[in-house]
Amino acid sequence: MTRSTCPYCGVGCGVSLTPGAGRQVTVAGDPDHPANAGRLCSKGSALGSTVGLEGRLLHPEIGGRPVAWAEAVGAVAKAFSQSIAEHGPDSVAFYVSGQILTEDYYAANKLMKAFIGSANIDTNSRLCMASAVAAHKKAFGADLVPCSYEDLEETDLVVFTGHNAAWTHPVLTRRLEAAKAARDQFWICLDPRRTDTAEISDLHLALKPQTDVRLWNGLAAWLINHGAVDKKFIAAHTNGYQDLAALLAKDDQSTASVALDCDLKRADVETFYRRFAATERVVTLFSQGANQSAQGVNKGLAIINAHLITGRIGKPGAAPFSITGQPNAMGGREAGGMATTLAAHLDFDAAGRGVAGRFWGVNPDALPTGPGLKAVDMFEAVRDGRIKAIWIMATNPVVSLPDANRVAEALEACPFVAVSDVMADTDTLAYAHVKLPALAWGEKDGTVTNSERCISRQRPVFAPPGAARADWRIVADVALAMGAPGFEWQAPADVFREYAALTTFENGGTRFLDLGPMADLSDDAYEALEPTHWPVRPDGSGTRRLFEDFRFQTPDGKARLNPVAAAGPARAVNPIFPFSLNTGRVRDHWHTLTRTGLAPELCRHAPEPTIDMHPEDAAAFGVKDGRLARLETPFGEAVAPARLTDAQRRGDLFIPMHWTAAYAPSGRANPLTNPDTDPTSGQPEFKHTPARIEPYGETWRGFLISPDAAKTPKGLDLVWRRTPQTGCQLHEFAGRGGPDERLRMLRSINLERDAEVLTLDDQRTGASRRAVIVDGKLKLVLAIAVGQGALPPRHWLVERFGDAVIDEKTRAVLLAGRMPGLADNGPVACACANIGEKTIKTAIEAGTCDLDTLGAQTKAGITCGSCRPELARMIAQYRPAAAPEKQGEPA
Ligand code: SF4
Repeated sequence: MTRSTCPYCGVGCGVSLTPGAGRQVTVAGDPDHPANAGRLCSKGSALGSTVGLEGRLLHPEIGGRPVAWAEAVGAVAKAFSQSIAEHGPDSVAFYVSGQILTEDYYAANKLMKAFIGSANIDTNSRLCMASAVAAHKKAFGADLVPCSYEDLEETDLVVFTGHNAAWTHPVLTRRLEAAKAARDQFWICLDPRRTDTAEISDLHLALKPQTDVRLWNGLAAWLINHGAVDKKFIAAHTNGYQDLAALLAKDDQSTASVALDCDLKRADVETFYRRFAATERVVTLFSQGANQSAQGVNKGLAIINAHLITGRIGKPGAAPFSITGQPNAMGGREAGGMATTLAAHLDFDAAGRGVAGRFWGVNPDALPTGPGLKAVDMFEAVRDGRIKAIWIMATNPVVSLPDANRVAEALEACPFVAVSDVMADTDTLAYAHVKLPALAWGEKDGTVTNSERCISRQRPVFAPPGAARADWRIVADVALAMGAPGFEWQAPADVFREYAALTTFENGGTRFLDLGPMADLSDDAYEALEPTHWPVRPDGSGTRRLFEDFRFQTPDGKARLNPVAAAGPARAVNPIFPFSLNTGRVRDHWHTLTRTGLAPELCRHAPEPTIDMHPEDAAAFGVKDGRLARLETPFGEAVAPARLTDAQRRGDLFIPMHWTAAYAPSGRANPLTNPDTDPTSGQPEFKHTPARIEPYGETWRGFLISPDAAKTPKGLDLVWRRTPQTGCQLHEFAGRGGPDERLRMLRSINLERDAEVLTLDDQRTGASRRAVIVDGKLKLVLAIAVGQGALPPRHWLVERFGDAVIDEKTRAVLLAGRMPGLADNGPVACACANIGEKTIKTAIEAGTCDLDTLGAQTKAGITCGSCRPELARMIAQYRPAAAPEKQGEPA
């Protein structure tokens, strides 16, 4: 058994890995890891389904031609060296990722900043928590997360701010549920959408998008006006109170005015404010809903202000707590993978450059003197030719950056693009001149840091496949080929020790980020490293809570209160684009599907992108539930099925951000999103883009199930989506043409010799169905319906692709898509146990109205628990009038 760390979200759960035959591995939660104590969510539980070699990039390539490593490394080194020689160090850039390990980050940062002399290295964490980083630096003097997960269990009030923890950080939600039951916590959720987190909170404030600063400023003003601030704490441990009070006094901060501006009920605003004032132990969790904004830094600061003026920091169960999205976003913040920091919490000032220069043995004057280009600006510089060579590592910016089509254009025009990745076919790799095969999770060896500053090991259970190499080693090889000294590491432990040594070099208590004794870890001690929260004490123990002595990393040790004015979004909705478009995650998918797209069980809960919309808005714009809608912004357009739900505010739309050209070419979110960024953090405003919507007007639709992924047939303009299933791929499609278009779709089926084709054509309705059987096995099913005509259910047909032989009984009903008498269980609610919504609804309607009994009866919600908020919502929705409410059940 090998102990490692889940590679998905910032919770950073420990996993126990038991390798099986070949590439098989059994994954369980690590009971000894402080983040999860054995729990895993649906994504972590399904890790074993994602480790196959299907679709992997296993050999370096240049121009699509497999080459030896020496040639690939030489090509990258030559392109970068030439660009630097001809156009200077700022003509090159690295765009890296919260997926790489701290060792990888350290190596890439050292090459860019210490040897090349540019700060043009940025990470996709820029899209995730750069605003929180900037807010921390402004308020605390450094990027310091004040508390740990233990504080969640010691608090009495939890405020979720732009944080759908139930979906994005499920294991934290499980911990919080237990704490809520144990100490009667009160939960308040601030989110424009009624998310699963809002559903299980005691109070939901569905605020108008981008009014967070107004709401939090209103809280600070309310606390001041009601004498609810901690005057002693303010005087002894903060600066800037008078300026903050003066700024707040400029606006009408009455709860009536705040409620009006935020489009909330006054009574709800007052409940929030009174609860905050009356509760000593408050943790405010804030995540992408706060950070991904053109005023993301101000949102973070407004939250921190409320905690500082009440002294609710540095004490048990009291802190503003920024939760990161990625497994090692924090490691990048620490090692220096962001363009806005030099390295190891050293800045670009003379003092920071002096420390780093002496450590690296380079002239401090040769180090960059200011921040490099942040993600969005970096690709703009690629587009306008300032950057002539870029190396992208472990990320997919053609999908994930805002105004994504512009990113594709930039890479298309860039003279040199190198991409390191584990997969062979991503939207970004299509633009790579040189492809570099990297190690994937299960093969990687190094460290990551989670949201609570806990450093954990990722350990390998598989040998490197093909020619794939660790990211740090690829960087070191290129560095050495460029003539850089100091990259002669032999193992990840060498890189880690050097990074740890930098954190402690000339530190003397001036920087909280100090890994102290880790600089001297032996190889064996590195191998056996236990999860440890930094700062690391001389005896090797960690620090769970910062600021317990109320000393911050500012010159005078006091925290800074930062007056921040409320402002509207960067772009207002208008008569042409009357909606506010929000983007985000779904429960079981991760980033751009390169990993979770390999696990069919993770594709069940949200099989395709949908556009969420309030039913009254839909009625006004002629959009129908389940039918295709066309979404347009000033930047691009997308087409996806509409999902009508009153969980959306009127005037707001939502589309998930995961789908790529490989899965849903028409349903990509980021061609739609605006490129506005926060002026300080550079974080894009993913949560608000003015948009409009209309029915797509499909005249027919259908599905195709085949063993392999199929592309839209040539010459047809169809809306095409693909969902991986066990043993086959389900393609849903629709068109706006007439009989000719449908005929061409039918003719696009490639029939093998000796194929047996079952056919059904209904001349009256225009419906067609085909099933193709070869050697007794099902090879393809296609169904087309015209207008409102019904299509057969897919679940039973999908399962038939696993049958060794299609027997006569099955053959007789194949085109009907259902065995008579077999129930259709509807969309999947519990991905782990594959339990459909209809099964759960039936049990609830029969009177099973508490989560535990429902779990015992249906098996739903008892494995990872990620679906429990959804089950609780279904209980509330379908509970028979006579069924009693169970005490302690989530509201
Ligand atoms: Fe992985 Fe889930 Fe834990 Fe996040 S909550 S680290 S995705 S198991």
